[in-house]
Amino acid sequence: MTTTPPKKASAAVQARRVLVLNSGSSSVKYQLLDMNDRSRLAIGLVERIGETTSRLLHTPLTGGDAETRERTGRIADHAAALKAAAEELAADGLGLDSPELAAIGHRVVHGGLRFTEPTVVTDEVLKEIERLVPVAPLHNPANITGIRTAQAMRPDLPQVAVFDTAFHTTMPEYAARYAIDVETADAHRIRRYGFHGTSHAYVSRKAAELLGRTPEEVNVIVLHLGNGASASAVAGGRCVETSMGLTPLEGLVMGTRSGDIDPAVTFHLKRVAGMSTDEIDVLLNKKSGLVGLCGDNDMREIRRRIDEGDERAALAFDIYVHRLKKYIGAYSAVLGRVDAVVFTAGVGENSAPVREAAIAGLEELGLVVDAGLNAVRSGEPRLISPNYARVAVAVVPTDEELEIADQTFALVGRAESAGQEMPVGQVDN
Ligand code: AMP
Repeated sequence: MTTTPPKKASAAVQARRVLVLNSGSSSVKYQLLDMNDRSRLAIGLVERIGETTSRLLHTPLTGGDAETRERTGRIADHAAALKAAAEELAADGLGLDSPELAAIGHRVVHGGLRFTEPTVVTDEVLKEIERLVPVAPLHNPANITGIRTAQAMRPDLPQVAVFDTAFHTTMPEYAARYAIDVETADAHRIRRYGFHGTSHAYVSRKAAELLGRTPEEVNVIVLHLGNGASASAVAGGRCVETSMGLTPLEGLVMGTRSGDIDPAVTFHLKRVAGMSTDEIDVLLNKKSGLVGLCGDNDMREIRRRIDEGDERAALAFDIYVHRLKKYIGAYSAVLGRVDAVVFTAGVGENSAPVREAAIAGLEELGLVVDAGLNAVRSGEPRLISPNYARVAVAVVPTDEELEIADQTFALVGRAESAGQEMPVGQVDN
């Protein structure tokens, strides 16, 4: 193990760029932000890492026209992916060796109970993220690889982990615990953690802003409806309930995941259908939800089929919306008073029919959608409820990368103002 001696954070803080990395099992998404005005300098994606058909898409955003460059051909691993991204950034005069780079912020999916805040990565922090691999086998290993690769590239720089689970660690114990044997649950760290936390945090704060209030003053229900989907109940800026659980499988109907089902379905599939645990895992995570119900997981395609009279697509849509309504009702009860219901992510931001259908019939809860406002297409946060509605209904585009950059930069800045030394570049060989 080599550990670079800590350096004073002051040197880092004069630098005002943050690189955000979102490392998946076979992809890396990156964005370079200028924290002077929180603008994007470049965005990019490396996909199909390890395959012969790897592809890098890079878009510099500093010039006039944003023109995407493409590289194809095998990119062997995450280290090669980050190297290729760094070369593209360097070609735009944005090289990662720049002294202007303050920190690298990493999306880390599972932070368990330990990580309630963004955290500067040390050897010990990496070990803890590794210890959580059994509860996030698909995500945490890729996140760890991304961090190690970035450390090797800039060992002098603070690496900050921003956890998808962190926002949900404020959930009360009675919401987080499953009603199963306590010893078994604790021995295996089985509880509800929740995911998409970065998005729920950002969107609930933005919704308060839209209402002209502080986050502490409002209670909101956030519906993050992307290919993965989750709901959260946020009271006074703190998450009190969320729909995903030990894993992202629980809760809403998603693109390819079932969401809530009777757990006995899994025993049944094993005992009666003779399926293996891995087959059941694939069935519920990859072949269920909208795709399982109708063969498509893209809401645009489902709406097109419904317009053509396709009954399977119509039933899939109805099941999706019914589950949403149940969660809106349940979270209204959990919160007691609701100030806003907020839609976000791919489906939530773009699908007016989903928003309309999910809110239809909920007048008794104070919820109404204005058809004209709902039909407006915009990239801005906006209200879609009429002025007279007791509860606001809003659309707030999510921005997880900006939230990660903000949290990363704030952490580096806080360390600076406290005169602390920032652990940097600890590489575990
Ligand atoms: P996300 O995971 O947030 O990127 O969301 C991806 C999903 O958003 C896709 O699978 C689509 O179902 C949905 N989506 C994206 N654009 C639209 C659109 N214009 N109308 C309806 N759904 C959309």
